Amino acid sequence: DIQLIANPVIRGQKTEGAVILLVNVTEKLERENLRREFSANVSHELKTPLTSISGFAEIMQDGLVKEEDIPQFAGRIYKESQRLLQLVEDVIQISQLDEEKTSYTWEPVDVYQVCKNAFESLKEKAQSMNVHLYICGDSMKMEAVRTLLEEAVYNVCDNAIKYNRNDGSVSIFLTQTAHEIQIVVKDTGVGIPREDQDRVFERFYRVDKSHSKEIGGTGLGLSIVKHAVGTLKGSVILQSEEGCGTEICMKFPKTHVE
Ligand code: ADP
Repeated sequence: DIQLIANPVIRGQKTEGAVILLVNVTEKLERENLRREFSANVSHELKTPLTSISGFAEIMQDGLVKEEDIPQFAGRIYKESQRLLQLVEDVIQISQLDEEKTSYTWEPVDVYQVCKNAFESLKEKAQSMNVHLYICGDSMKMEAVRTLLEEAVYNVCDNAIKYNRNDGSVSIFLTQTAHEIQIVVKDTGVGIPREDQDRVFERFYRVDKSHSKEIGGTGLGLSIVKHAVGTLKGSVILQSEEGCGTEICMKFPKTHVE
């Protein structure tokens, strides 16, 4: 998209010419469109659980729910409010990622410790879903923004557990070469169909076939991962086969730290 700006050049009473400026506004328009789409999506995603919550609460208040069904209704209200909380947290993370670029603190971070922390905080969730969780690697340091690395690792591991099968497994492997650190998260879950593999990193994109509606989520997790890894000057590579599993590899340049 090109925007045309024309200004006449006037000397005394006479118009001597014109300055014509052609400005490429494609990127600006794309950014505005993305922002508009983002707000529309957030409003929609907020409305859905809120409508359920107020609907359930209203019929309970009107005494239309049998005593024995009350726990079930309360459970639905709880589940929907958890979804709302998750959404609000993800949106906060995204807006911080969009705005805070300049105020990041870079420091030597032990990548193994970050992965181990994610492992520890997800252990219970994995157990409750009957998914086996493994971690393999040694202490290794790189120059990073700790919170970004934590968010990226946590989100990838969380997905690997969420989209897994009963008795499945998630393995976190850490390796390093002289110049690079790699974190690989491999799961034995539902996999991602080929046609969706590029799109899962878009904000709010969720794969229908992975029963994501029942599983719960906001479609923001992987877009946060991509953004965070990019800010850390790394890259994300996704390999997946439907019905077999997914492997996500995050690679980071190793800036030398002692
Ligand atoms: P969500 O909050 O839905 O998990 P994400 O952005 O983290 O959002 O992921 C986008 C979609 O990609 C998910 O809804 C799911 O369909 C798919 N997905 C992500 N990770 C995996 C995985 N490890 N295995 C299978 N599907 C996955």
